[in-house]
Amino acid sequence: MEQLFAAQGIDLIKGKGHLIDDHTVGVDKQEITSDKIVIATGQRSARLNVPGNEQFHDSRDFLSLDKMPKRMTIIGAGIISLEFATMATKLGTEVHIIEFGDRALAAYPKDYVQTIVDTLTEEGAVFHFNEAVTQATALDDGSYVVKTDSGLTVETDYILDATGRIANTEDLGLEALGIETDRGGIVVNDHLQTAVPNIFASGDVVSKKIPKLTPTATFESNYIASVILGNSDPIQYPAIPNVVFTMPRLSQVGVTNDEAKAHPDDYRVVDIPFGQQLKFQTKLEENAKLTLVIGRDKTLKGATMLGGEAGEMVNLLTLIINQGLSAKELNAMIFAFPGVSSGVLTSLIQALNE
Ligand SMILES: Cc1cc2nc3c(=O)[nH]c(=O)nc-3n(C[C@H](O)[C@H](O)[C@H](O)COP(=O)(O)OP(=O)(O)OC[C@H]3O[C@@H](n4cnc5c(N)ncnc54)[C@H](O)[C@@H]3O)c2cc1C
Repeated sequence: MEQLFAAQGIDLIKGKGHLIDDHTVGVDKQEITSDKIVIATGQRSARLNVPGNEQFHDSRDFLSLDKMPKRMTIIGAGIISLEFATMATKLGTEVHIIEFGDRALAAYPKDYVQTIVDTLTEEGAVFHFNEAVTQATALDDGSYVVKTDSGLTVETDYILDATGRIANTEDLGLEALGIETDRGGIVVNDHLQTAVPNIFASGDVVSKKIPKLTPTATFESNYIASVILGNSDPIQYPAIPNVVFTMPRLSQVGVTNDEAKAHPDDYRVVDIPFGQQLKFQTKLEENAKLTLVIGRDKTLKGATMLGGEAGEMVNLLTLIINQGLSAKELNAMIFAFPGVSSGVLTSLIQALNE
């Protein structure tokens, strides 16, 4: 990135920035004035407020490990937890996952998540649901004991706190300028402006309902650039795909299965167990499956997919959703055969025609 910045004529100043006034950013003793300012300070890992939490590690620590621990306990069963549990079990670590709620990956359909939980369990991971971690104690031999409210104790060598992420809004001088924040981050209008019109916010630090992801941050920054160059249209997000990089992968885009089922007049939900139907293309991945959400106008509005190819396939489905392609338009194209995508497209065309 530093090389790219240099090639584009962008100065990179390393240091902690804060707003001095609506046109000045301070970095250490340096002051930089600017017509427009974009706050893009992202998020950091949350730290569960229990005794012994100084023993906890976050995703950055985990990704910096030189050697895998023999035993690892993950607090929380969200995306980061399940992705890292997948890596750790594959690398031979004994993994325990302790989750406060009664299920993993709450934003995804239960039956889809169950396949991932079952696969991880087969790989040796142990899930503890409805358990709130209350403390962690270091033992003399360098290991730890994690305790929960119900009295569960887990002995471990490494504790990963994967309980969430918090927007970096502190010490930026926001309050003095009247820039509003809430639990989700910096409050912006539909032009991504803060309460101070020449100060924008982009990416994870923005309070928003859409997923906080790299491509949404990029989309927002490109949008802000367009506003600075004269675009007056409010931001309009397209369908946003997201992928859980477990094995198998889980991806979702657009209207969710739950939303569709809650509005049966607006949507039709079609389940396609394509792992059963396309055994050859999916390399015998029999639990691979797909749910399509189809609108009254007979175009695709959403999709959820499980399988090794789910992370790639979701981009094709996103394109179809954003372009509003009909069965007739898809039928007018020829796709390479055989493959997961051609099988899914055939199923999609059939479903759109029903
Ligand atoms: C473990 C993990 C896995 C993820 N996997 C995916 C994935 O598979 N796909 C995906 O799309 N997204 C993923 N994400 C989310 C993705 O990383 C974020 O959505 C994305 O990085 C947001 O970009 P951003 O620029 O808003 O924030 P960031 O990338 O967090 O960048 C913010 C930067 O601002 C710096 N900063 C903060 N405060 C200051 C200050 N006062 N002065 C100067 N600098 C400051 C920070 O140090 C940081 O470098 C993942 C996140 C995590 C933690």
